[in-house]
Amino acid sequence: MKPSVFNFAYERKDGSCAVFNTFSRAVVVFDSMEQYRETFRQACTAPAPGETVCGEAAALQENGLLVADELDELDVLKYFHYKAKFSNESLILTIAPTMQCNFACPYCYEKARTGHMSTEIQDALVDYVCEKLEQGARDVDLTWYGGEPLLYPDVIDRVTGRIAGAVRTANAKLGCTMVTNGSLLTPDIVAMLQRNEINSIQITLDGMAENHNARRPFRNGGGSFDRIVSNLSLFAGTGIRVNVRMNVDRKNKGDYAALREVVDGLRPQVEISLYPALVEHLNADDLRSDVYLSGSEYEAFLRDCRGAEHLDADEMALANNRRYFCTAELDNCFVVDELGNFYKCWDEIGRPELVCFNLLDRERVNYSAIVRYVADDPFREDSRCRNCCFLPLCFGGCRYQKYYFGGVKCSFTPESVSAFVESKYLT
Ligand code: SF4
Ligand code: SF4
Repeated sequence: MKPSVFNFAYERKDGSCAVFNTFSRAVVVFDSMEQYRETFRQACTAPAPGETVCGEAAALQENGLLVADELDELDVLKYFHYKAKFSNESLILTIAPTMQCNFACPYCYEKARTGHMSTEIQDALVDYVCEKLEQGARDVDLTWYGGEPLLYPDVIDRVTGRIAGAVRTANAKLGCTMVTNGSLLTPDIVAMLQRNEINSIQITLDGMAENHNARRPFRNGGGSFDRIVSNLSLFAGTGIRVNVRMNVDRKNKGDYAALREVVDGLRPQVEISLYPALVEHLNADDLRSDVYLSGSEYEAFLRDCRGAEHLDADEMALANNRRYFCTAELDNCFVVDELGNFYKCWDEIGRPELVCFNLLDRERVNYSAIVRYVADDPFREDSRCRNCCFLPLCFGGCRYQKYYFGGVKCSFTPESVSAFVESKYLT
Protein backbone atom coordinates (compact mmCIF):
# COMPACT_ATOMS: atom_id res chain seq x y z
CA MET A 1 0.00 0.00 0.00
CA LYS A 2 1.05 3.64 -0.46
CA PRO A 3 -0.34 7.01 0.68
CA SER A 4 -2.65 8.64 -1.84
CA VAL A 5 -1.03 11.45 -3.84
CA PHE A 6 -4.20 13.43 -3.10
CA ASN A 7 -3.76 13.50 0.70
CA PHE A 8 -3.51 17.01 2.08
CA ALA A 9 -2.30 17.04 5.71
CA TYR A 10 -2.17 20.08 7.97
CA GLU A 11 -1.68 20.86 11.64
CA ARG A 12 -4.82 22.09 13.42
CA LYS A 13 -4.94 24.84 16.05
CA ASP A 14 -5.02 22.28 18.91
CA GLY A 15 -1.92 20.47 17.60
CA SER A 16 -3.84 17.57 16.07
CA CYS A 17 -3.45 16.74 12.40
CA ALA A 18 -6.20 16.52 9.76
CA VAL A 19 -5.70 14.63 6.52
CA PHE A 20 -8.14 15.47 3.73
CA ASN A 21 -8.19 13.37 0.59
CA THR A 22 -9.15 15.73 -2.22
CA PHE A 23 -10.36 12.87 -4.44
CA SER A 24 -12.52 10.86 -2.00
CA ARG A 25 -13.31 14.00 0.13
CA ALA A 26 -12.70 11.90 3.29
CA VAL A 27 -11.10 13.52 6.35
CA VAL A 28 -9.24 11.68 9.11
CA VAL A 29 -7.95 13.39 12.24
CA PHE A 30 -4.83 12.17 14.12
CA ASP A 31 -3.66 13.24 17.58
CA SER A 32 -0.54 14.86 16.16
CA MET A 33 1.55 15.16 12.99
CA GLU A 34 3.87 12.46 14.43
CA GLN A 35 0.99 10.08 14.97
CA TYR A 36 -0.19 10.69 11.39
CA ARG A 37 3.28 9.96 9.94
CA GLU A 38 3.78 6.89 12.10
CA THR A 39 0.32 5.49 11.27
CA PHE A 40 0.99 5.82 7.56
CA ARG A 41 4.50 4.39 7.92
CA GLN A 42 3.15 1.30 9.65
CA ALA A 43 0.15 0.98 7.34
CA CYS A 44 2.42 1.08 4.31
CA THR A 45 4.66 -1.64 5.67
CA ALA A 46 3.72 -4.90 3.99
CA PRO A 47 2.18 -7.40 6.46
CA ALA A 48 4.34 -10.43 7.17
CA PRO A 49 3.23 -13.62 5.38
CA GLY A 50 0.07 -14.92 7.07
CA GLU A 51 -0.74 -11.54 8.69
CA THR A 52 -3.80 -9.53 7.63
CA VAL A 53 -3.92 -5.79 7.04
CA CYS A 54 -4.47 -3.98 10.37
CA GLY A 55 -7.83 -2.27 11.04
CA GLU A 56 -6.35 1.21 10.80
CA ALA A 57 -4.80 0.51 7.39
CA ALA A 58 -8.08 -1.00 6.17
CA ALA A 59 -10.00 2.15 7.27
CA LEU A 60 -7.48 4.42 5.55
CA GLN A 61 -7.76 2.32 2.42
CA GLU A 62 -11.53 2.38 2.50
CA ASN A 63 -11.46 6.19 2.66
CA GLY A 64 -8.96 6.50 -0.19
CA LEU A 65 -6.10 7.80 1.98
CA LEU A 66 -4.11 4.65 1.29
CA VAL A 67 -4.14 3.06 -2.15
CA ALA A 68 -2.76 -0.07 -3.76
CA ASP A 69 0.85 0.18 -4.94
CA GLU A 70 -0.09 -0.50 -8.54
CA LEU A 71 -2.85 2.14 -8.72
CA ASP A 72 -2.07 5.20 -10.85
CA GLU A 73 -4.39 7.74 -9.24
CA LEU A 74 -3.61 10.43 -11.80
CA ASP A 75 -4.84 8.12 -14.55
CA VAL A 76 -8.04 7.42 -12.63
CA LEU A 77 -8.64 11.13 -12.14
CA LYS A 78 -7.89 11.78 -15.79
CA TYR A 79 -10.43 9.12 -16.73
CA PHE A 80 -13.18 10.86 -14.69
CA HIS A 81 -12.15 14.26 -16.06
CA TYR A 82 -12.33 13.14 -19.69
CA LYS A 83 -15.55 11.24 -19.11
CA ALA A 84 -17.19 14.44 -17.78
CA LYS A 85 -15.66 16.54 -20.56
CA PHE A 86 -16.97 14.51 -23.46
CA SER A 87 -20.26 13.28 -22.01
CA ASN A 88 -23.31 13.61 -24.28
CA GLU A 89 -25.60 13.38 -21.32
CA SER A 90 -25.61 17.01 -20.33
CA LEU A 91 -26.11 20.13 -22.36
CA ILE A 92 -25.23 23.42 -20.69
CA LEU A 93 -26.20 26.65 -22.43
CA THR A 94 -25.81 30.20 -21.21
CA ILE A 95 -28.00 32.39 -23.40
CA ALA A 96 -27.92 36.15 -23.88
CA PRO A 97 -31.18 37.27 -25.52
CA THR A 98 -29.49 40.67 -25.85
CA MET A 99 -26.11 42.28 -25.24
CA GLN A 100 -27.84 45.52 -24.36
CA CYS A 101 -27.78 46.64 -20.74
CA ASN A 102 -29.45 49.41 -18.76
CA PHE A 103 -26.42 49.62 -16.44
CA ALA A 104 -22.98 51.11 -17.11
CA CYS A 105 -20.67 49.20 -14.74
CA PRO A 106 -17.06 50.31 -15.07
CA TYR A 107 -15.75 46.75 -14.61
CA CYS A 108 -17.94 45.19 -17.32
CA TYR A 109 -15.93 43.26 -19.91
CA GLU A 110 -18.74 43.06 -22.45
CA LYS A 111 -18.97 45.20 -25.53
CA ALA A 112 -22.54 46.48 -25.28
CA ARG A 113 -24.65 46.56 -28.44
CA THR A 114 -28.32 47.04 -29.11
CA GLY A 115 -30.76 44.52 -30.57
CA HIS A 116 -32.16 41.23 -29.40
CA MET A 117 -32.50 37.61 -30.49
CA SER A 118 -34.64 37.29 -33.63
CA THR A 119 -37.32 34.60 -33.95
CA GLU A 120 -35.10 32.92 -36.58
CA ILE A 121 -32.27 32.54 -34.05
CA GLN A 122 -34.71 31.54 -31.29
CA ASP A 123 -36.07 28.75 -33.51
CA ALA A 124 -32.59 27.62 -34.53
CA LEU A 125 -31.63 27.49 -30.85
CA VAL A 126 -34.64 25.33 -29.98
CA ASP A 127 -33.77 23.03 -32.93
CA TYR A 128 -30.19 22.78 -31.65
CA VAL A 129 -31.43 21.67 -28.22
CA CYS A 130 -33.80 19.11 -29.85
CA GLU A 131 -30.86 17.71 -31.81
CA LYS A 132 -28.80 17.35 -28.62
CA LEU A 133 -31.74 15.60 -26.93
CA GLU A 134 -31.86 13.15 -29.83
CA GLN A 135 -28.13 12.57 -29.42
CA GLY A 136 -28.64 11.56 -25.79
CA ALA A 137 -28.72 14.69 -23.61
CA ARG A 138 -30.57 13.81 -20.39
CA ASP A 139 -29.86 16.97 -18.40
CA VAL A 140 -30.36 20.35 -20.01
CA ASP A 141 -29.19 23.34 -18.09
CA LEU A 142 -30.12 26.87 -19.24
CA THR A 143 -28.82 30.11 -17.77
CA TRP A 144 -30.28 33.38 -19.04
CA TYR A 145 -27.59 35.99 -19.18
CA GLY A 146 -26.77 39.20 -21.05
CA GLY A 147 -26.44 42.19 -21.35
CA GLU A 148 -29.51 42.44 -19.18
CA PRO A 149 -31.78 39.51 -20.11
CA LEU A 150 -34.90 41.09 -18.61
CA LEU A 151 -34.85 43.83 -21.25
CA TYR A 152 -36.45 41.13 -23.44
CA PRO A 153 -38.64 38.94 -21.21
CA ASP A 154 -40.74 37.77 -24.19
CA VAL A 155 -37.71 36.04 -25.72
CA ILE A 156 -37.02 34.29 -22.42
CA ASP A 157 -40.65 33.23 -22.08
CA ARG A 158 -40.91 31.86 -25.64
CA VAL A 159 -37.57 30.04 -25.80
CA THR A 160 -37.73 28.55 -22.30
CA GLY A 161 -41.30 27.37 -22.89
CA ARG A 162 -40.40 25.64 -26.15
CA ILE A 163 -37.25 24.05 -24.78
CA ALA A 164 -39.18 22.86 -21.72
CA GLY A 165 -41.70 21.18 -24.03
CA ALA A 166 -38.94 19.41 -26.00
CA VAL A 167 -37.21 18.31 -22.80
CA ARG A 168 -40.48 16.91 -21.42
CA THR A 169 -41.15 14.98 -24.63
CA ALA A 170 -37.66 13.49 -24.46
CA ASN A 171 -38.25 12.57 -20.82
CA ALA A 172 -35.12 14.47 -19.84
CA LYS A 173 -34.49 17.00 -17.04
CA LEU A 174 -34.35 20.79 -17.35
CA GLY A 175 -32.77 23.27 -14.93
CA CYS A 176 -33.16 27.02 -15.51
CA THR A 177 -31.43 29.92 -13.84
CA MET A 178 -30.88 33.59 -14.63
CA VAL A 179 -28.22 36.22 -14.03
CA THR A 180 -29.90 39.62 -13.91
CA ASN A 181 -29.05 43.02 -12.49
CA GLY A 182 -32.42 42.92 -10.73
CA SER A 183 -33.54 46.41 -11.69
CA LEU A 184 -36.31 45.45 -14.14
CA LEU A 185 -38.19 42.94 -12.02
CA THR A 186 -41.95 43.41 -11.76
CA PRO A 187 -44.72 41.14 -10.45
CA ASP A 188 -45.48 40.11 -14.09
CA ILE A 189 -41.85 39.22 -14.76
CA VAL A 190 -41.59 37.22 -11.55
CA ALA A 191 -44.77 35.35 -12.59
CA MET A 192 -43.13 34.61 -15.98
CA LEU A 193 -40.05 33.24 -14.21
CA GLN A 194 -42.24 31.03 -12.04
CA ARG A 195 -44.25 29.81 -15.01
CA ASN A 196 -41.03 28.79 -16.75
CA GLU A 197 -39.57 27.21 -13.63
CA ILE A 198 -36.60 29.55 -13.66
CA ASN A 199 -36.09 28.75 -10.04
CA SER A 200 -32.80 30.37 -9.18
CA ILE A 201 -31.65 33.93 -9.84
CA GLN A 202 -28.29 35.59 -9.37
CA ILE A 203 -28.35 39.30 -8.60
CA THR A 204 -25.32 41.45 -7.86
CA LEU A 205 -25.16 44.04 -5.09
CA ASP A 206 -21.67 45.49 -4.83
CA GLY A 207 -21.96 46.71 -1.25
CA MET A 208 -24.30 49.22 0.37
CA ALA A 209 -25.84 52.16 -1.53
CA GLU A 210 -22.79 54.40 -1.98
CA ASN A 211 -20.37 51.74 -3.12
CA HIS A 212 -22.93 49.79 -5.12
CA ASN A 213 -24.19 52.88 -6.94
CA ALA A 214 -20.66 53.87 -7.93
CA ARG A 215 -20.03 50.38 -9.36
CA ARG A 216 -23.45 49.57 -10.81
CA PRO A 217 -25.12 52.80 -11.96
CA PHE A 218 -27.94 53.03 -14.48
CA ARG A 219 -26.84 54.27 -17.92
CA ASN A 220 -28.09 57.76 -16.96
CA GLY A 221 -25.78 57.75 -13.93
CA GLY A 222 -28.53 57.18 -11.33
CA GLY A 223 -28.06 54.73 -8.48
CA SER A 224 -29.67 51.28 -8.67
CA PHE A 225 -29.30 50.06 -5.06
CA ASP A 226 -32.72 51.07 -3.68
CA ARG A 227 -34.58 49.75 -6.72
CA ILE A 228 -32.87 46.34 -6.56
CA VAL A 229 -33.32 45.94 -2.81
CA SER A 230 -37.00 46.81 -3.08
CA ASN A 231 -37.41 44.36 -6.01
CA LEU A 232 -36.00 41.50 -3.92
CA SER A 233 -39.26 41.39 -1.96
CA LEU A 234 -41.08 40.38 -5.15
CA PHE A 235 -39.63 36.91 -4.66
CA ALA A 236 -41.41 36.40 -1.33
CA GLY A 237 -43.28 33.10 -1.33
CA THR A 238 -42.38 32.29 -4.96
CA GLY A 239 -39.99 29.43 -4.23
CA ILE A 240 -37.43 31.13 -6.51
CA ARG A 241 -34.05 31.10 -4.84
CA VAL A 242 -32.15 34.41 -4.95
CA ASN A 243 -28.35 34.31 -4.75
CA VAL A 244 -26.97 37.77 -4.10
CA ARG A 245 -23.40 38.12 -5.25
CA MET A 246 -21.17 40.86 -3.93
CA ASN A 247 -18.04 41.53 -5.99
CA VAL A 248 -15.57 42.40 -3.29
CA ASP A 249 -12.70 44.83 -3.73
CA ARG A 250 -10.46 46.90 -1.44
CA LYS A 251 -12.94 49.77 -1.20
CA ASN A 252 -16.26 47.98 -0.65
CA LYS A 253 -15.24 44.98 1.47
CA GLY A 254 -16.28 46.80 4.66
CA ASP A 255 -19.91 46.77 3.43
CA TYR A 256 -20.24 43.00 3.46
CA ALA A 257 -21.57 42.69 7.02
CA ALA A 258 -24.17 45.46 6.50
CA LEU A 259 -25.33 43.88 3.25
CA ARG A 260 -25.63 40.60 5.05
CA GLU A 261 -28.09 42.31 7.44
CA VAL A 262 -30.14 43.59 4.49
CA VAL A 263 -30.32 40.07 3.08
CA ASP A 264 -31.12 38.54 6.48
CA GLY A 265 -33.99 41.02 6.84
CA LEU A 266 -35.71 39.50 3.80
CA ARG A 267 -35.76 36.01 5.24
CA PRO A 268 -37.68 33.78 5.64
CA GLN A 269 -40.24 35.14 3.14
CA VAL A 270 -37.55 35.31 0.44
CA GLU A 271 -35.30 32.31 -0.05
CA ILE A 272 -32.09 34.28 -0.32
CA SER A 273 -28.37 34.00 0.32
CA LEU A 274 -25.36 36.28 -0.01
CA TYR A 275 -21.92 35.27 -1.22
CA PRO A 276 -18.76 37.21 -1.98
CA ALA A 277 -16.80 37.01 -5.24
CA LEU A 278 -13.30 38.18 -6.00
CA VAL A 279 -13.21 40.78 -8.80
CA GLU A 280 -10.41 39.91 -11.13
CA HIS A 281 -8.61 41.89 -13.74
CA LEU A 282 -9.89 40.13 -16.85
CA ASN A 283 -10.45 43.13 -19.07
CA ALA A 284 -7.51 45.02 -20.53
CA ASP A 285 -9.64 48.20 -20.82
CA ASP A 286 -10.49 48.15 -17.13
CA LEU A 287 -8.52 50.92 -15.40
CA ARG A 288 -9.69 50.06 -11.89
CA SER A 289 -7.25 47.23 -11.25
CA ASP A 290 -5.70 49.10 -8.28
CA VAL A 291 -8.83 48.42 -6.21
CA TYR A 292 -8.77 44.65 -6.78
CA LEU A 293 -7.89 42.42 -3.84
CA SER A 294 -4.93 40.09 -4.19
CA GLY A 295 -5.53 36.37 -3.58
CA SER A 296 -4.14 36.59 -0.04
CA GLU A 297 -6.17 39.71 0.78
CA TYR A 298 -9.30 37.92 -0.40
CA GLU A 299 -8.47 34.89 1.72
CA ALA A 300 -8.04 37.16 4.75
CA PHE A 301 -11.44 38.70 3.95
CA LEU A 302 -13.06 35.23 3.77
CA ARG A 303 -11.40 34.27 7.04
CA ASP A 304 -12.92 37.32 8.76
CA CYS A 305 -16.34 36.53 7.26
CA ARG A 306 -16.13 32.95 8.47
CA GLY A 307 -15.10 34.15 11.95
CA ALA A 308 -18.14 36.46 12.06
CA GLU A 309 -20.34 33.73 10.52
CA HIS A 310 -21.12 35.98 7.59
CA LEU A 311 -20.72 33.40 4.85
CA ASP A 312 -23.98 31.87 3.61
CA ALA A 313 -22.83 29.88 0.67
CA ASP A 314 -20.00 27.42 0.65
CA GLU A 315 -17.41 29.58 -1.05
CA MET A 316 -15.62 26.46 -2.18
CA ALA A 317 -18.58 25.10 -4.09
CA LEU A 318 -16.03 23.88 -6.60
CA ALA A 319 -15.11 21.27 -4.10
CA ASN A 320 -18.39 19.53 -4.82
CA ASN A 321 -18.05 16.39 -6.83
CA ARG A 322 -17.34 18.10 -10.13
CA ARG A 323 -14.67 16.61 -12.31
CA TYR A 324 -13.67 19.85 -14.05
CA PHE A 325 -12.97 23.43 -13.03
CA CYS A 326 -15.47 25.24 -15.21
CA THR A 327 -18.14 24.27 -17.69
CA ALA A 328 -16.17 25.99 -20.50
CA GLU A 329 -14.01 22.83 -20.55
CA LEU A 330 -16.99 20.66 -21.48
CA ASP A 331 -17.64 19.74 -25.09
CA ASN A 332 -21.41 20.21 -24.72
CA CYS A 333 -21.34 23.62 -23.09
CA PHE A 334 -21.58 26.99 -24.80
CA VAL A 335 -22.44 30.63 -24.28
CA VAL A 336 -24.83 31.90 -26.96
CA ASP A 337 -25.32 35.53 -27.92
CA GLU A 338 -28.38 37.17 -29.49
CA LEU A 339 -26.96 36.66 -33.00
CA GLY A 340 -26.68 32.89 -32.52
CA ASN A 341 -22.90 32.97 -32.04
CA PHE A 342 -21.54 30.24 -29.77
CA TYR A 343 -18.58 30.90 -27.44
CA LYS A 344 -16.85 28.75 -24.84
CA CYS A 345 -16.36 31.20 -21.99
CA TRP A 346 -18.65 33.81 -20.42
CA ASP A 347 -15.89 36.38 -20.68
CA GLU A 348 -15.59 35.97 -24.45
CA ILE A 349 -19.17 36.82 -25.40
CA GLY A 350 -19.46 39.47 -28.09
CA ARG A 351 -15.90 39.03 -29.41
CA PRO A 352 -16.21 38.05 -33.10
CA GLU A 353 -12.75 36.44 -33.29
CA LEU A 354 -13.75 33.98 -30.53
CA VAL A 355 -17.00 32.73 -32.03
CA CYS A 356 -16.81 28.92 -32.23
CA PHE A 357 -19.68 28.73 -34.74
CA ASN A 358 -23.00 30.35 -35.55
CA LEU A 359 -26.36 28.60 -35.29
CA LEU A 360 -27.20 29.46 -38.90
CA ASP A 361 -23.86 28.25 -40.27
CA ARG A 362 -22.80 25.33 -38.10
CA GLU A 363 -20.39 23.84 -40.62
CA ARG A 364 -17.97 26.77 -40.28
CA VAL A 365 -16.18 26.01 -37.00
CA ASN A 366 -13.39 27.99 -35.35
CA TYR A 367 -11.62 25.04 -33.70
CA SER A 368 -8.94 27.13 -32.04
CA ALA A 369 -11.64 28.96 -30.03
CA ILE A 370 -12.88 25.56 -28.81
CA VAL A 371 -9.69 23.63 -28.13
CA ARG A 372 -8.08 26.23 -25.89
CA TYR A 373 -10.75 25.22 -23.34
CA VAL A 374 -11.67 21.65 -24.21
CA ALA A 375 -8.22 20.27 -25.10
CA ASP A 376 -6.20 22.00 -22.41
CA ASP A 377 -4.85 19.19 -20.25
CA PRO A 378 -3.73 19.66 -16.63
CA PHE A 379 -2.39 16.07 -16.69
CA ARG A 380 0.34 16.85 -19.25
CA GLU A 381 3.85 15.75 -18.23
CA ASP A 382 5.08 19.35 -18.00
CA SER A 383 2.05 20.70 -16.10
CA ARG A 384 2.67 21.93 -12.55
CA CYS A 385 -0.92 20.86 -11.73
CA ARG A 386 0.04 17.21 -12.24
CA ASN A 387 1.89 17.20 -8.94
CA CYS A 388 -0.60 19.28 -7.01
CA CYS A 389 -2.70 17.48 -4.38
CA PHE A 390 -5.56 19.93 -5.06
CA LEU A 391 -5.94 18.73 -8.65
CA PRO A 392 -9.17 16.75 -7.91
CA LEU A 393 -10.76 19.99 -6.63
CA CYS A 394 -9.35 22.31 -9.24
CA PHE A 395 -8.51 20.48 -12.48
CA GLY A 396 -6.09 23.20 -13.49
CA GLY A 397 -8.13 26.35 -12.88
CA CYS A 398 -9.58 28.95 -15.21
CA ARG A 399 -8.47 28.37 -18.81
CA TYR A 400 -9.31 31.97 -19.73
CA GLN A 401 -6.75 33.22 -17.18
CA LYS A 402 -4.27 30.66 -18.39
CA TYR A 403 -4.67 31.59 -22.04
CA TYR A 404 -4.84 35.37 -21.74
CA PHE A 405 -2.61 35.96 -18.71
CA GLY A 406 -0.05 33.22 -19.30
CA GLY A 407 -0.85 31.39 -16.05
CA VAL A 408 -3.50 30.55 -13.51
CA LYS A 409 -3.87 32.09 -10.10
CA CYS A 410 -4.41 28.99 -7.92
CA SER A 411 -7.95 28.92 -6.52
CA PHE A 412 -6.95 26.36 -3.90
CA THR A 413 -4.19 26.98 -1.38
CA PRO A 414 -3.24 25.19 1.85
CA GLU A 415 -4.90 28.03 3.77
CA SER A 416 -8.17 28.01 1.83
CA VAL A 417 -8.48 24.22 1.77
CA SER A 418 -7.72 23.81 5.49
CA ALA A 419 -10.31 26.53 6.29
CA PHE A 420 -12.82 24.68 4.08
CA VAL A 421 -12.14 21.34 5.82
CA GLU A 422 -12.46 22.92 9.25
CA SER A 423 -15.79 24.62 8.47
CA LYS A 424 -17.36 21.87 6.39
CA TYR A 425 -16.23 18.74 8.26
CA LEU A 426 -14.77 19.57 11.65
CA THR A 427 -17.00 22.16 13.34
S1 SF4 B 1 -4.15 25.66 -10.74
FE1 SF4 B 1 -2.98 25.64 -8.83
S2 SF4 B 1 -4.37 24.73 -7.24
FE2 SF4 B 1 -5.18 24.26 -9.31
S3 SF4 B 1 -4.37 22.23 -9.76
FE3 SF4 B 1 -3.01 23.73 -10.72
S4 SF4 B 1 -1.37 24.06 -9.18
FE4 SF4 B 1 -3.11 23.08 -8.12
S1 SF4 C 1 -12.88 29.83 -18.33
FE1 SF4 C 1 -12.56 31.11 -16.52
S2 SF4 C 1 -13.41 33.14 -17.07
FE2 SF4 C 1 -14.24 31.61 -18.53
S3 SF4 C 1 -16.20 30.97 -17.65
FE3 SF4 C 1 -14.61 29.52 -16.95
S4 SF4 C 1 -13.92 30.27 -14.95
FE4 SF4 C 1 -15.03 31.96 -16.01
